[in-house]
Amino acid sequence: MNLSPLLEWASGLGERARRDEPLAPYTAMRIGGPADLLVVCRTTEEVVEAVRRARAAGVPWRALGGGCNVLVSDAGVRGLVIIHRADRTRIEADGTVWAEAGASVAALARETAARGLAGLEWAAGLPGTVGGAVVGNAGAFGGDVASVLVSVTLLEPDGEVTERPATWMEFAYRESRIKRMGPENRPVVLAAMFRLSPGDPAALAARMEEILAWRRTRHPSGATMGSTFKNPPGNHAGRLIEAAGLKGYRVGGAAVSELHANFLINTGSATAADVRALIRHIQAEVERQFGIHLEPEVEFIGWDADERG
Ligand SMILES: Cc1cc2nc3c(=O)[nH]c(=O)nc-3n(C[C@H](O)[C@H](O)[C@H](O)COP(=O)(O)OP(=O)(O)OC[C@H]3O[C@@H](n4cnc5c(N)ncnc54)[C@H](O)[C@@H]3O)c2cc1C
Repeated sequence: MNLSPLLEWASGLGERARRDEPLAPYTAMRIGGPADLLVVCRTTEEVVEAVRRARAAGVPWRALGGGCNVLVSDAGVRGLVIIHRADRTRIEADGTVWAEAGASVAALARETAARGLAGLEWAAGLPGTVGGAVVGNAGAFGGDVASVLVSVTLLEPDGEVTERPATWMEFAYRESRIKRMGPENRPVVLAAMFRLSPGDPAALAARMEEILAWRRTRHPSGATMGSTFKNPPGNHAGRLIEAAGLKGYRVGGAAVSELHANFLINTGSATAADVRALIRHIQAEVERQFGIHLEPEVEFIGWDADERG
């Protein structure tokens, strides 16, 4: 792989472009080996430029937002990793909300509620960016991205920028058309348009306080990816893992949270291999005891194809 066509441009980003940069600090789990080249993009134009140059050079790319729902391998990621930090937003009185993909979803929820717009309260305290939330159809407390998204602006793998309606995303529970694609060279989400409805700012603020309090008491703090597995139909992954006797179970430095069994914790020294082995163990035990397959919600980045899933 020849990175040199990218390097001269990247050097213009100064400290925001790094060779062989460990990805652990860019993930909520604090785990992950190096990216061959990492660029932190602060504008949409930088993201477009990075992808177009990577494409021209035949270098694979991958976008990351907050790194909150991914497990990056210990070997890291070959090619270019774009940390998407373009975060402009526009909130219109008629309920139209536009946000660049690097914007914080939780901040957007706060700002729209304060402007008397309902529809994103469920995202109070949700870690990560608009781009990550769109790709994973993030949701909680009965709400999700799919129910408020109007359209997305995408940078397609061929370098073209397109506007796609929400239906194009083929959303399902914690799933989207983009999430179902192969790992490299997917479309990059540049921005999203939401449609919110009128609401009472005080009532919205109170609801969001409740949600934040719930998160503070039910979710472990520290290094975690959030929910590891999707809830199987009619069931809860956390309950099944707890019923299987796995709360507190450890592999190396990775542990099942005592507070919420669907959350895995990096106790400080976990490797990606530890977490992967813990995930496999949980899947095997839950399948053996209850005959239910737990499908990961988190995405595996930088793993061989047969190590995913
Ligand atoms: C404590 C905690 C609590 C959580 N609670 C919830 C919850 O209640 N509900 C819920 O749904 N999730 C929850 N999560 C998971 C996580 O917050 C969401 O999945 C979030 O939307 C991920 O956003 P991100 O920016 O971190 O995405 P990342 O983890 O960076 O990326 C996720 C995927 O999206 C892709 N991606 C990211 N940005 C782009 C882009 N601009 N263009 C194309 N692809 C992109 C990545 O390549 C990757 O495939 C929780 C996580 C934590 C740590």
